[in-house]
Amino acid sequence: MSKRPAAFLDRDGTIMRDASYVRNPNDVELLPGAADAIRRLNDRGVPVIVITNQSGIARGWLTEADYETVRDRLNDLLAAEGAHVEATYMCPHHPDFTGPCDCRKPGTALYRQAIAEHDLDPTQSVFVGDRWRDVEPASVLGGLGIMLDVESTPAADLERAHTNSVPIARSLGEAIDKFFAVLPAPGHS
Ligand SMILES: [Mg+2]
Ligand SMILES: [Zn+2]
Repeated sequence: MSKRPAAFLDRDGTIMRDASYVRNPNDVELLPGAADAIRRLNDRGVPVIVITNQSGIARGWLTEADYETVRDRLNDLLAAEGAHVEATYMCPHHPDFTGPCDCRKPGTALYRQAIAEHDLDPTQSVFVGDRWRDVEPASVLGGLGIMLDVESTPAADLERAHTNSVPIARSLGEAIDKFFAVLPAPGHS
């Protein structure tokens, strides 16, 4: 079987509202259109891989167990909308608290793990998020980076996207539209 294109999505500020270091599952709120965008990826047979930095764990603000209940709540909310995430990968570190690591975005260790475990082709994949660090791995691994210009996007990150001629979308739905516009039809690779 040939390697598949995937959608590598950030979590906070991309799929769910970035309420900063969410530890309570009741605080999980889907962003408008996010479930619909993921369902369209599902319908097209593109696996959705969530890659998330959770430095709140290194800071002691939430536990891995808190993180897991939040992750499960998000997956439940998506399931209620008919949308499915293939896998979620998480970095619990922060250099100031736990020292350097390879998995914190823009590090690519979690992407490489997902690529190996799910037989993915990064060069046919899309990388979407509300921070520059979500998009930068596309330039290392190949593939299409799309920067979200949303409430949580820092101005400096948007500026880097402009400087690097990275496409910008106003929502996850718009980003997936841009991805589908360049994604080869199934059966052609
Ligand atoms: Mg984010
Ligand atoms: Zn890490």
